[in-house]
Amino acid sequence: MKSLDLILRGGTLVTEKSVSPMEIGISGEKIVAVEKNISQSARHEINATDLHIFPGLIDSHVHFNEPGRAHWEGFATGSRALAAGGGTLFFDMPLNAHPPTIDAESFDLKLAAAQKKSLIDFALWGGLVPGNLDKLEELSDRGVIGFKAFMSNSGIEDFSCVDAPTLRKGMKRAARLKKIVAVHAESDAITSRLAAESISQNKISVRDYLNSRPVAAELTAIRRALEIAGETGCALHIVHVSSSAGVAMIVEAQKRKIDVTCETCPHYLTLTETDLEELGAVAKCAPPLRSAKEQNHLWKHFAANEITSIGSDHSPSPPEMKKESSFFKIWGGISGAQHTLPLLLTEGHFNRRIALTQFAALTSFNVARRFNLPATKGKIEIGADADFTLVHLAKEYKIESEDLFYRHQQSPYVGRSLRSKPVQTLLRGQTVFKDGKTSLEPLGRLIKPQPKN
Ligand SMILES: [Zn+2]
Repeated sequence: MKSLDLILRGGTLVTEKSVSPMEIGISGEKIVAVEKNISQSARHEINATDLHIFPGLIDSHVHFNEPGRAHWEGFATGSRALAAGGGTLFFDMPLNAHPPTIDAESFDLKLAAAQKKSLIDFALWGGLVPGNLDKLEELSDRGVIGFKAFMSNSGIEDFSCVDAPTLRKGMKRAARLKKIVAVHAESDAITSRLAAESISQNKISVRDYLNSRPVAAELTAIRRALEIAGETGCALHIVHVSSSAGVAMIVEAQKRKIDVTCETCPHYLTLTETDLEELGAVAKCAPPLRSAKEQNHLWKHFAANEITSIGSDHSPSPPEMKKESSFFKIWGGISGAQHTLPLLLTEGHFNRRIALTQFAALTSFNVARRFNLPATKGKIEIGADADFTLVHLAKEYKIESEDLFYRHQQSPYVGRSLRSKPVQTLLRGQTVFKDGKTSLEPLGRLIKPQPKN
């Protein structure tokens, strides 16, 4: 064995397979030993007694809005917030940066910004929008993780939604390029009509907004996306599924051998439409928060391993965009990336809805596998990158706005009582977060998916 730089002793290791006391040896950026007792010594040791060691959280869905809208979030603050929540890798969405990431040139601009500022590793989504079919190949060559398309209005003028023919053509090309397509699945025909009707009658409250984005709109879009995936053979990922019937449709399609997976977000699992009525703008998102009954069903799909992964869909804005009198005009997006881990452990593990092993799969192993990440990501084993987070599971605390690392210290979770506190995060063997403080050095590297055979 190589000489060791670091050993973690006394902790409980959580992987997608098991939970057991284990010591971890690190040399440079890599894990070189995972044993009950490492007899060697190292230059440094971390005493992980009473702590659980989880694989670094991989957030497959964030909007850090840079370049162009760094005043909404930006790579520096967004990546620090994630590191403080146990994150070591994120996939940034092609919107709401300006320009959006829809060709090689805009990819290069975003890559430069991320390399300069991101504390942790990152992958970049490319956009699939009307008019950029001929740019998908150059985006693929640059190393995008996949292509994201909207089936309803994105809320951003420079990122248009796709109609079915465009989605079909895009997925055909993506299939040739062996890239996955992720869709925001809500039917524009339904949501736009209902919103217009409601606004024309001056019905602009929270409840009116909820009524304008029914589960039926999600199901119509998922059905269409599944049809096109079946026709084109393209791998499909449905982001932020909010309904039980949506997950059921995806599971049924998997049985028909359609290559489809889905993610949901912490907010659909921990907040309901009643919370939206109480909290207002800070909890607005699309699809909107659903009923407690729907939420319960979503947890059951987890128990059945029918949801592949969790993405935060962190999508902040400046506070003034949350202050319109019409709820329809308020920016839709929840700031939440920092608390995926404690929210899910509090509501999932402590309420006996998911096992710790399942949590490691949902936030790391499954994400790495579905998105074809290099073999060094998504697991804690010899040869892997030393990416992990140390969590004090028993710790109880409350989220305070001053603890938020976001550019704007707003989140629907402020004031919420949690258990499970990430206390230290390591990226490739280096501490990026410890005891409430993040490192400032931008260590992040672009992670590209592996070529598929
Ligand atoms: Zn999103």
